[in-house]
Amino acid sequence: MLKRFFPDLYVDSIYHIPYETLKKNQIKGLVFDIDNTLVPFDVATGDQRLVTHFKELTRLGFQICLVSNNSEERVTIFNQDLQVEAIHKAQKPLRRSFKKAMKLLKTNPKTTAIIGDQVFTDVWGGNRIGMTTVLVRPVVDRDEWITKIKRGLEKKILKVYLKNSNNQ
Ligand SMILES: [Mg+2]
Repeated sequence: MLKRFFPDLYVDSIYHIPYETLKKNQIKGLVFDIDNTLVPFDVATGDQRLVTHFKELTRLGFQICLVSNNSEERVTIFNQDLQVEAIHKAQKPLRRSFKKAMKLLKTNPKTTAIIGDQVFTDVWGGNRIGMTTVLVRPVVDRDEWITKIKRGLEKKILKVYLKNSNNQ
């Protein structure tokens, strides 16, 4: 019942993702959420570490697409230094933007992973379409008001998830 909200992987940050393992599992496309996954929601652009990280991922052979529920302006400014595929106003967890991302990346659910900080948008959306789902801890505790509301329930789900994964 709760499984639809469980990620395949849960890591501290995008820098802790086992990318080589993803690659071995035929993942070719990486779909990244922006707000509180790559940068705090109220910070306009990524730092040098992020730019370097994306270059490294590209070098490893991954294709990258940003998929954000945020505005066109937010996504365009954020993407200026990165220059990857990008979708704004994505309306995650709806499937539409995930499909659009896979079209841009020329991948399918089996070869695509979604990486994000929210259970009810990133993980649920990714699971609905059959992608590999990677949940990261939010980069900061600050959240937009709408996200704040969801975090309480999210915590409860993660507690069950962690209990399950510890028992395996
Ligand atoms: Mg987010």
